[in-house]
Amino acid sequence: MLHIDVDEDRCGGFGFCEQAAPEVFGLDDDGAVTVLLPEVPDGLAARAEAATRACPVAALRVRR
Ligand code: SF4
Repeated sequence: MLHIDVDEDRCGGFGFCEQAAPEVFGLDDDGAVTVLLPEVPDGLAARAEAATRACPVAALRVRR
C-alpha cells in the first residue's frame, strides 16, 4: 500500500494528477488537489505513482 503526501503550497491546480489517476486525485472547488485515497491499494499503485510523476511542480510524494 502506498501513501501520498501533498505539498499544498506547491500545487498549482494543473490537474495532471487527476487526469492520470482520477480514483486517487481530485481537485476541490478552489482548484487545489485533494487526495481521495490517502492509502492507495496495490491495484492502483502504478497509476498513482505515474500521476505523481506527471505533476509539473513536484507537489506529490509517494511513501511506502
Ligand atoms: S498535477 Fe501537481 S500541480 Fe497539478 S493538481 Fe496535481 S498536485 Fe497540483
